[in-house]
Amino acid sequence: MELLDLLTSHVRIDAVRAKALKKLGIVTVRDLLYHFPASYEAAGSIHALASVKEGEDVIVYGRLTGLAARKAWTTKKTIAEGWIEDGTARIKIMWFNQPYLAKMLRDGMVVKLVGKVAGKGDKIYIANPEVQETNAVKEGGDSLFQERAQDETIYPIYPESKGVTSKWIFHILKKWFDAGLLNDINDPIPEDIRKKYSLPHLAQALRDIHQPTQEKRYQVAQKRFAFEEVFAIQTRHAQERAAISAADCYQFATDAEHIKKFVDRFPFPLTGAQTRALESIFGDFNGMSAMSRLLEGDVGSGKTAVAATTAYAVCTSRPDATKDWGNLQVAYMAPTEILAKQHFESFIEYFKHLPIQIGLITGSGCQKFPSKVDPTKPTSISKAQLLKWVENGEIPILIGTHALVYKKVQFKHLGQVIIDEQHRFGVKQRKALTQKGAPMPHLLSMTATPIPRTLSLTMYGDLDLTLLDEMPPGRKPTITKYIGKDDEEKMYEHVCSELKTGRQAYVICPRIDEPDPEKETAVEMKSVIAEAERLRTGPLREWRIGIMHGKMTPAEKDEVMADFNAHRLDVLVATSVVEVGVNVPNATNIIIEGAERFGLSQLHQLRGRVIRGTHQPYCFVSTTSKAANTAIRLKAFVATNDGFALAEHDLEFRGAGELYGRNQSGLSDLGMTALKNLKLVEAARTEAKNLVAKDPELKKYPTLAERLTHLGELHME
Ligand code: ADP
Ligand code: MG
Repeated sequence: MELLDLLTSHVRIDAVRAKALKKLGIVTVRDLLYHFPASYEAAGSIHALASVKEGEDVIVYGRLTGLAARKAWTTKKTIAEGWIEDGTARIKIMWFNQPYLAKMLRDGMVVKLVGKVAGKGDKIYIANPEVQETNAVKEGGDSLFQERAQDETIYPIYPESKGVTSKWIFHILKKWFDAGLLNDINDPIPEDIRKKYSLPHLAQALRDIHQPTQEKRYQVAQKRFAFEEVFAIQTRHAQERAAISAADCYQFATDAEHIKKFVDRFPFPLTGAQTRALESIFGDFNGMSAMSRLLEGDVGSGKTAVAATTAYAVCTSRPDATKDWGNLQVAYMAPTEILAKQHFESFIEYFKHLPIQIGLITGSGCQKFPSKVDPTKPTSISKAQLLKWVENGEIPILIGTHALVYKKVQFKHLGQVIIDEQHRFGVKQRKALTQKGAPMPHLLSMTATPIPRTLSLTMYGDLDLTLLDEMPPGRKPTITKYIGKDDEEKMYEHVCSELKTGRQAYVICPRIDEPDPEKETAVEMKSVIAEAERLRTGPLREWRIGIMHGKMTPAEKDEVMADFNAHRLDVLVATSVVEVGVNVPNATNIIIEGAERFGLSQLHQLRGRVIRGTHQPYCFVSTTSKAANTAIRLKAFVATNDGFALAEHDLEFRGAGELYGRNQSGLSDLGMTALKNLKLVEAARTEAKNLVAKDPELKKYPTLAERLTHLGELHME
C-alpha cells in the first residue's frame, strides 16, 4: 500500500460515501491517514443507561422517544422533554428554555448525549445534555453502546460528517493496521532527527493516533505529527530563503548624509528604534542577496516614516552607475483603499520637495502626484496612463491596494516591495508582487499585529525580524476602562467632556458571528446604524456623528474619513473592519461595544487607534457579558498596554485556531496546537535549517520533499 494510492483502490466506496469523503478532502490513502481524530473517548466514560447514577457526568448512546415540549405552569418557561433508551434501560431527558431543540430532534433518532444526571432514586433525569446525532448505529443496526463497551480501547472521534462516520474510519484503518499494510511506509522525518527528539516512526505514530491503546500513546503521536508539520513548514521556509540568497539582486550602499537630508525635514526626530530599523534595512540593501525583512511595530510606532525613508533610499540609488538606466522603483501595498490613500498622502508630505513622482492605484481609480496644473496637489489620471508611466520608470513610487498585483502593472526596475499590514495578505500575493522585478526586489513587510514568537517563526520563518519596540516620545499610555452596564453613564459623561475640549472619538460596534459573509456585513451595518441612531438621540445628541461600515462604497468611506480627519465630525461609529492603521491624531477616545466578541490582539489593535497624538488617550471596553472568562480576558486587557503579552495571553486562552482563523491559516489543528510549544517550533526550525544547508533540493530526502507538497498556504487573518 502506498500513501498516494487512491482510496478506492483499497476500499469499496459507494457514491454517497464518495461524495462525503470528497467533501472532507479525502481522496488518497494518505488523506485518510492524516485525517486525525478530533478527540478520544475512553470506553469507560460511556455508560449503559442501566448503570447511570445521579450526580454523574455521563456519555450515553441511544434512541430518542416521546419527545414533547410544554410550558412550566409556574414559570411559563418552555421545557422540552423526552426519553432515551439503549436496550438496557430508559431515562428521562429535559431541556429548559431551549424550545428550538424539540424542533431539531425527532423520535427514533439515534444520538449521543453528554450531560449530568440529576434527580433522585428512580426519578433521575439528564438535564440540558448536549445532543449529537450519530449515524454509526443506524448503519449497523446494532447497539453502538454494546460494541463499545466490550472494547477496551480508547475510541477515536473524528470530525463530524454525514456519511463518513468515526466507526467506518475505525474499521477500515483497523483492517489495514492488523494486516500490517502500513509497516513499510517511508517517514518524511529523517531517522536521526526522530531519534534525537524521541519521536515515533510514522507507521507507529499513525497506529497510535488512530487506534491508541493508552492515552499516552496518542499524545506522543500527536506531538510527532505537530513536529512533522512544523518541520515541513520550516524546511519550506529554509528553501525559500536559500532561493532568495541565490537570486540576483540590486546591491547598493546608502549614504548617511544623503539620508539625513531627507529625515531632517520630518517634523520630529526619529526614535532610536526607527534609526536601528533603518540601519538594518540599509545593511540589507548593501548585502549580497535581496532583503526579506519583517518590521514589527505596535500601532503608532512610526512604520510609515521608516517605509518612506527606505523608499527614498531606493529610488535615489543607482546600483550600477556605469549604465544610464534611470532609477529604481518602489511598490507599496496596503490592505485597504483607505490605508493606501493615507500612505499616498503621507508620502506626498515626505516627498513634495523632491522631483520624485508618486502614483496611487486602487480598485476605484488612479492618481499621481504632482499634478501638472497645480504642483502642490495630486491629480486623478487614467489607469492606462499611470501604468504607462510606471512601466517606463517615470513614476518611481507606486502605492496601492492589491490592485498592484495585477498582471498589467509592470515596472521598469522594481527595487523594493513594501507591504503594510502584511498579515492581511497571503504568501501568494506577496510573491506575485516581488516577482514583478528581476533581479529580485528587496522586500520590506510590516505589521502592527504583535504575534507570539512561535507563530511568527511558523508563519514568517523566511523573514528576518526587526522590532520597532519604542514609541515616539510624548505618547501617553492609554487609560483603559472596563465598562459594565452601571458604568455607561459615567463613560458618556467622560467622552462628552473630552469632545468639549476639542477631541474626537470612535465607537466600535461588534462583529456579529454570522456564517454567511454577505449577511455578516448586513448585520454589522445594522448594528452600526442602530448604534449611531441611539447615540444621536441619546447620550451623544449634541455631537456630530458619522458612520462607516463594510457596505459603503470606497468613495463614501473616503468622504466620511475625510470629514472625520478634518474634524467636521466629532464621533465615528464604525465596525472593527474599519480600519487597522487609520491615523487621526485628534481622536483620543474609543468605545468598544460588545468587547467580549473580540480577541485581545484585536482589541489592542483597536486601542491603537487613539495613541496617535500627544493628548491622553482613553479606551473603554464595554460588555454586557457575564461569562467568567470574558472578565478574565478583559481584565488582562485593561491591565496591560503590551501587545505581545496580550497576544501570548490570547494564544493561551483562545487557542491559535480561533485567533488566526483555523481554516485560512493553512495550518492543521495539530499544527496550531504546536504553536503553544516554543521548544518544539525552535527545534523544528533548527533541524530544517541544518538539513537544507546540507541538501537544499532535498535530493537525499524524497519523502520529505513529497511531504512539503501537502502543506497548505500559510495565511493569517
Ligand atoms: P504605524 O507604525 O502604526 O504605521 P505611523 O507610521 O502611522 O504608525 O505613525 C503614527 C504617527 O506617529 C504619525 O502621525 C507619524 O507622523 C508619527 N511619528 C512617526 N515617527 C515619529 C517620531 N519619531 N516622533 C514623533 N512622531 C512620529
Ligand atoms: Mg501603519
